[in-house]
Amino acid sequence: MLRVSNIRTAVPMRKTVAALAAKKIRCRVQDIEEVRIVRRSVDARRKPKVYIVFTADIIVRQEARIWRGCRDNKDIKMVTEAPAIAAARGNLPLRQRPIVVGTGPAGLAAAFMLAQYGFAPLVLERGQDVETRTACVEKFRHEGILCDHTNVQFGEGGAGTFSDGKLTTRVNHPLIRNILHILVKAGAPEEILYTYNPHVGTDRLRQVVKNLRHMIMEAGGDVRFASCVTDIICNDRGQVQSVVVNHKEHYDTSVLLLGIGHSARDTYEMLHRHGMAMVFKPFAVGVRIEHEQHVIDRGQYGNTASALGLEPASYALAYHRPDGRSCYSFCMCPGGEVVAAASEAGGVVTNGMSVYARNSGAANSALVVNVTERDIRGTDPLRGIAFQRRYEQLAYAAGGHNYKAPAQTVGDFLRIAAVSPGIHTYMPGVTWTDLSAILPAFVTQTLQEALPYFERKIKGFAAPQVVLTGVETRTSAPVRLLRDENRMSVGTAGLYPIGEGAGYAGGIMSAFLDGMETALTIIRKFKPLEVQV
Ligand code: FAD
Repeated sequence: MLRVSNIRTAVPMRKTVAALAAKKIRCRVQDIEEVRIVRRSVDARRKPKVYIVFTADIIVRQEARIWRGCRDNKDIKMVTEAPAIAAARGNLPLRQRPIVVGTGPAGLAAAFMLAQYGFAPLVLERGQDVETRTACVEKFRHEGILCDHTNVQFGEGGAGTFSDGKLTTRVNHPLIRNILHILVKAGAPEEILYTYNPHVGTDRLRQVVKNLRHMIMEAGGDVRFASCVTDIICNDRGQVQSVVVNHKEHYDTSVLLLGIGHSARDTYEMLHRHGMAMVFKPFAVGVRIEHEQHVIDRGQYGNTASALGLEPASYALAYHRPDGRSCYSFCMCPGGEVVAAASEAGGVVTNGMSVYARNSGAANSALVVNVTERDIRGTDPLRGIAFQRRYEQLAYAAGGHNYKAPAQTVGDFLRIAAVSPGIHTYMPGVTWTDLSAILPAFVTQTLQEALPYFERKIKGFAAPQVVLTGVETRTSAPVRLLRDENRMSVGTAGLYPIGEGAGYAGGIMSAFLDGMETALTIIRKFKPLEVQV
C-alpha cells in the first residue's frame, strides 16, 4: 500500500482524507479502496490559520501504475503491513507458573503476553477491582476518606486508571503499534492508532483495564485482588522461591515480575530490607496549575477549539536555568480536573485526570522542578521517598488535616496582585495558603522564575487569578531497582522488576512496553510446562 504523508487541510475540514490523498497520488477518489489514518496532528504555527496534517496508508486499485506516477514525491512511500509479534519460544522448563505483581500497565502487559503464550500467570494486585476501586476513589473525593490499599495509585489498572489516559510517549519502538492495537481490542477508541496525542480518558480506561483482565483470564491467567505481596523468599543462592501475600499465604514461583508502580513504599522497604539492588533516582516536585480551557485554546490555536472543530488544546512548556535546574509542565490534562492522588494516610498529593470527552472546561498540568542527588544527599536509596513524604505531610497539615489541598493564586504566589481565585477543580476542596511555606525553597524559586517566562509563551498562563494547588510529588519513581542485561534484578535470580516502579518507564505506554518486553524475554527463555496451581 502507499503511505502518504503531509496531507494538509485547513480547519474546519471541507474534504475527506480520501479526496485529499487522491489528489496527492494523482488518482480518482473512486479508485481508493481503503484509507488507514496512521497519524493526525494539528499545525497551529501560522495562527490564525490552523491546519490538520495527516499521514495515511492508502489501498488503491492499480497500485503499481499509480505508484509509477507519484514515486518521485518524497511524501509518498510504498510500505508493507507491520508483522504481528512472534516470539521465539524458550526451552528451560518451569516448575511453577510465573507470578506478576501489580495490574498497572506494566503488570497487565506482562500478564497478557505470558497468558497468550500459555504461561497461565498468577497476577496479584494489592488493590480492588476497578468497580470497587471507583467507589473508593469517589468516597475519597467527596468525603475525604482515604482507603490505603485501593485509591488513585493502587488497584486494578494501576496509577493510570484515574488519569487522562494520554498515550503519548517519547519511546520509538516497533512494539508501540502492537500495544495500541491491543488497547483498541480491549475497548480504547480506534483513533489512538493515528492521533498525534492519543488519549483514552478515565471513563474508557476503566473498561479497557477490565477487558484486559478478562482477556488474561480467558487465556489461562488468574487475577487476584486484595492480594498484597508483603514478602519475597529466596533460597541461599539468591533465587526467588516464593512470595508471601497479605503476610500469610505463600505462593511458589521461580519467575516473579514486579510491576509495583512508584507509590508502593512499603514494598520498596521490604525489598531494601532484603538487600535487593536499588539506587536513588532523580524525580520532580511542584504544583498543579489550572486555567479556563479557552485560555489555552486561544494561546495555542488563536481561537477556541470548538470554533475550529478541534480537540481542546494542550501544551508542553519548559524553563531551564543555567545551573541545571528546570521547571516543566508534566501530565497536562486538557478539559480535565485536578485529582486527589494520595495513597498514604496523612499526605496530600495532586495529579490530573479527564474523561474521554475532555469537556470540563478546565485545563490543568503539573508544573514541576527536578530534584536530584545534590538536593538530597546521603546513601540511603530510599531517601527520595522520605523527601516526597515530608512535603506531602506539610501539604496535609496546611490543607487542614482533612485531605483538602493547599492552594494559592499566581498573583499571591508571585506577590504581584491580590485577586479572587479563578477556576479550580480539586476535590475534596482547597485551603488558601502560602505555597512557598510547604515547598522546598528551590522549587518555589524556580516556579517563581518560570511562571513569567511561561506567560510569554501562552498569554494568560500566569494571570494573577490562576490557581496553583499542591503538592505534586509522584511524578516518577524516586528509586531504581537495578536490572541486568536479562532484565533480572542484579543479584536476585528470577526477579524481574518492571515498569515505572522499577525506574525503567515513565507513563502508561512505556510501562506497558517494559512489561511486554520483559514477558517476551521470559517467553524466549522458558517453556510453559504443566501448570501447578
Ligand atoms: P502502576 O500503574 O503504578 O501499577 C502498579 C500496581 O501495582 C498498582 O495497581 C498497585 O496497586 C500494585 N502494587 C503495588 N505494590 C504491590 C504489592 N506489594 N502487591 C501487589 N500489588 C502491588 N501516564 C501517562 O502516560 N498518561 C497519563 O495521562 C497519565 N496520567 C496520570 C494520572 C494520574 C492521576 C496518575 C496517578 C498517573 C498518571 N500517569 C499517566 C502515570 C502512569 O499512570 C504510570 O506511569 C503508569 O501507570 C505506570 O505503570 P506501572 O504498571 O509501572 O505502575
